[in-house]
Amino acid sequence: MKRLIVAGLALLLLIGTTGYVLRGPLIDAVVAQRSAATLTRVDRSTLTDGHLHVWLCGTAAALPDPDRAGPCTAIVAGGQLVLIDAGPGSWRVVDGLNLPVAALSAVLITHLHSDHIGELGEAIQQSWIAGRSEPLPVYGPPGIDHVVNGFAQAYGADVGYRVTHHDDAYMPHAAAAATANVLPLPVGTDRSPVFERDGLSVSVFRVDHAPVDVAYGYRIEYRGRVVVVSGDTKPSASVRRNAQGADLLLHEALDTRLTERASEQATSLGMSRVAKLALDVGNYHTTPIQAAQIAADAGVQTLVLTHVFPPLPNAVARRLFMAGTAEMFAGERVLGEDGMRFDLAPLR
Ligand SMILES: [Zn+2]
Ligand SMILES: [Zn+2]
Repeated sequence: MKRLIVAGLALLLLIGTTGYVLRGPLIDAVVAQRSAATLTRVDRSTLTDGHLHVWLCGTAAALPDPDRAGPCTAIVAGGQLVLIDAGPGSWRVVDGLNLPVAALSAVLITHLHSDHIGELGEAIQQSWIAGRSEPLPVYGPPGIDHVVNGFAQAYGADVGYRVTHHDDAYMPHAAAAATANVLPLPVGTDRSPVFERDGLSVSVFRVDHAPVDVAYGYRIEYRGRVVVVSGDTKPSASVRRNAQGADLLLHEALDTRLTERASEQATSLGMSRVAKLALDVGNYHTTPIQAAQIAADAGVQTLVLTHVFPPLPNAVARRLFMAGTAEMFAGERVLGEDGMRFDLAPLR
């Protein structure tokens, strides 16, 4: 009995002490430190340090991949943040990288497959909530106006609630909008300028992702540095031409060795629909070896494989995916992962 009373008293003392700590100066200090770290986590220094910065904010293809968000590349240079594609899940990666999202000044969409536009609504909305003060230009192929208008409709109620709740002075209604900029690129036009702002210039070129009509790649230049994003494409002479001399070529890659094996397996299991889809998907993408060949032909410095398919769950799968690329391309080869960062120092 005596022992029980002592144990009870000890327990009360422990609870009392813990209660004091939870309400006391220690917990206050931890909470203050945590919230200060959250409030100041955004890194704006990359906007003005003269480098051309690139982050991979989504490296998956169309099907869900547990390790990768949908297609997304972030460029930071010349005081601007530009996103190329906004695939499903990519905003969480952008935010997690502490990028200066209030400075988002443009979104470039390569084509209108859902894996490239699924998160556009969040990119528009979240950058506004974070403090973007001007309407957001969204560039893309014909049809991008319908996509932008559709997201405006879908998010219209949310914009209204937030303006009413916080006041227009803090959540300016006029800045919430995105403006669609259709980039018409007539057949036979090799490359066309999109914009040039504070030294950051963007141009668009046509790629071959038929039956998708049309699909684009983008070339970004800043202070002598060049980054090229292929978008989704079969092996394309246009990518080869427009990536000439690039520092970084971000090229899509799908390993048909793996998808064809999956198709055969599906056939043997009587899953004819899956077997057909697995075969079809290979005919409008580029294999890692073909991408390496294009990188060699274009004379790029570094090849980054992105839009990775199929998902690569372990080191063996990743090694298989890259197999044969070294024989084609002597430069640096990188298998893209979400969150990867490349910093290109200015040449002029
Ligand atoms: Zn895609
Ligand atoms: Zn596509």
